[in-house]
Amino acid sequence: MAKTLIHGLTQNELTDSCAQLDLPKYRAPQIWRWLYVQRVNDWDSMKNLPSALRAELAERFLLDSAVPLSKQGEPDDTCKILVGLHDEEQIEEVLISAPGRRTVCISTQVGCRFHCAFCASGQHGFRRNLDAGEMVGQVLLAAHTFSDKLTNVVFMGMGEPLDNYDATLKAVRILNNKDGLNIGARRITISTCGVIPPIERLATEGLQVELSVSLHAPNDELRSQLMPVNRKYPLADLLKACKAYFAATKRIITFEYTLIQGVNDRPQHAKELAKLLSHLPSRVNLIPLSPVEEFAGQSSPQEAAEVFMNTLEQAGINATLRRSKGSSLKAACGQLRFQRSSDSAVPADE
Ligand code: SAH
Repeated sequence: MAKTLIHGLTQNELTDSCAQLDLPKYRAPQIWRWLYVQRVNDWDSMKNLPSALRAELAERFLLDSAVPLSKQGEPDDTCKILVGLHDEEQIEEVLISAPGRRTVCISTQVGCRFHCAFCASGQHGFRRNLDAGEMVGQVLLAAHTFSDKLTNVVFMGMGEPLDNYDATLKAVRILNNKDGLNIGARRITISTCGVIPPIERLATEGLQVELSVSLHAPNDELRSQLMPVNRKYPLADLLKACKAYFAATKRIITFEYTLIQGVNDRPQHAKELAKLLSHLPSRVNLIPLSPVEEFAGQSSPQEAAEVFMNTLEQAGINATLRRSKGSSLKAACGQLRFQRSSDSAVPADE
């Protein structure tokens, strides 16, 4: 029997598993606290459990859901961790510190099915979904690595979170648990390339998580070139789903827009974008394009980016121009990719 990742169990599931093992009622809360309050990463540290029970748990459950293989950069600035999974697959996660904020950007899939032209994660296809425990494991690893308390989690690493819906939502609930990590839903962001059915489903969950939608183009022709997902879920339908999401949750959606020189960064594009978003409370996050080997596009010059932002603002759209963090580590948006164990990690001094 394959072992279950213990970090992939909700509190209720852990309680049920303990009941199946005929354990006294107080055991599940004890184990939960070891996992998420003391956050130990070996069974033997769970001092108030009898050693026979620790051995039994070790037989049934895996505790090593995300193992750090190498680390580049500094946790108090930007740092990328190469993470090993139990089946030898590898993913990357990024830790970003800013004043008052320590954010981890986690992956939800090994590879990605969506093949956005400018993104490294999907260039070599899709390998598998992550288990909720592997997502929670990435957060625990970040919490251990930061020198201060972790404050935010963004599901913006490799993969499409809404293409791995159940595991993603389960991870959100585990992170959110008041007796555990207690990361508030408003400090958790799910980013999607725009798959509509799960956006509709997310609207019904009664969760206060932040939703980010990767837009990157203001019309179908351009968006379908950059993001093949648009051929199936074109902009009018996507925006309709976003409006319904706002109506149901009252959460303002952030639209991510990567500025690519000469492709989607002209004032005309900004005007078109403002028109598209005019009936929806929203904010636009403008991101400089991070260089990706397989994509020939260049990041927009600062001046064009500022003109773009001002054009949006003048049209009444709330926009921010984000400074890209981590591109020297290949840890910026869209630069995460899976590596085989035979590939060496990018050297720390690159
Ligand atoms: N699949 C999800 C989350 C992963 S990508 C999504 O598409 O939203 C996280 C963000 O990085 C998305 O907004 C994505 O479009 C953006 N991104 C991808 N490649 C990029 C690149 N080369 N430069 C800047 N942003 C990029």
